[in-house]
Amino acid sequence: MGLEFITARLGAMGPENSTVGHYSAGPRAKNRKEGIERAIAFHADHKVRLGAAGIGYHYLIPDDGTIICCRSTFHNGAHVLKNNSGRIGVNMPGTLTETIRDRPTKRQARAFNWLLHNAHTEAMPRVHRTDRDLSQLPITTHKDLMATSCPGLFRKMYLKGGLPWIEPTGDSFELEDDGFVDLEPEDEELIAEVEAGNVPDPEADASVFGPDDEEAHAPGEEAELPEADEEFDEDLSDLLDEIKAQR
Ligand SMILES: [Zn+2]
Repeated sequence: MGLEFITARLGAMGPENSTVGHYSAGPRAKNRKEGIERAIAFHADHKVRLGAAGIGYHYLIPDDGTIICCRSTFHNGAHVLKNNSGRIGVNMPGTLTETIRDRPTKRQARAFNWLLHNAHTEAMPRVHRTDRDLSQLPITTHKDLMATSCPGLFRKMYLKGGLPWIEPTGDSFELEDDGFVDLEPEDEELIAEVEAGNVPDPEADASVFGPDDEEAHAPGEEAELPEADEEFDEDLSDLLDEIKAQR
């Protein structure tokens, strides 16, 4: 996406130890284009507001199940305040308020499952490839690490590792559009809480999101950014031009 990170702030990530699921205040993203738009917006926001090197998540998955690679997996994320070491951060844009009850699509859940099983393989561009097979590591969510409502109605899906991957058939790389993941009893309880007036506070949630101290304050060692992957970048250029033109 051509995101420019503040390289002096990036800290190297060793072998991954877990995957952390998130959602985010603001609208959900329907497709690849909207997902990239959100990623670009998060990138600017996390730099300015949180003092992070750039977008805090490693991956972002919009409703259509596209996997958007954000921060390189060579570097620690900035998605769990002061507790990012070895943690891969995945975001599915969505939120939970009195009136908005975003929950994952089946495509998102299947894409997450694919990511868990394939992030370490050559199916991923090198700079966004993990060292370890994420399906063999613990999966947790933001809420399981600190007091936050994140990831709302996406939590059960993350903890289950999504839904089994289904290989698209025919000429299309698109997953079949088969609606939303079914709600679990725990999700229903969460909705009941919201209806009872216990509505998540986006500001409280934002206060537990961010980089580790060394990223936020001390400019660590100058980290080298990975080399660009030209073939990969070529595919994206038209879409990025389109997004740039409308801003
Ligand atoms: Zn979160």
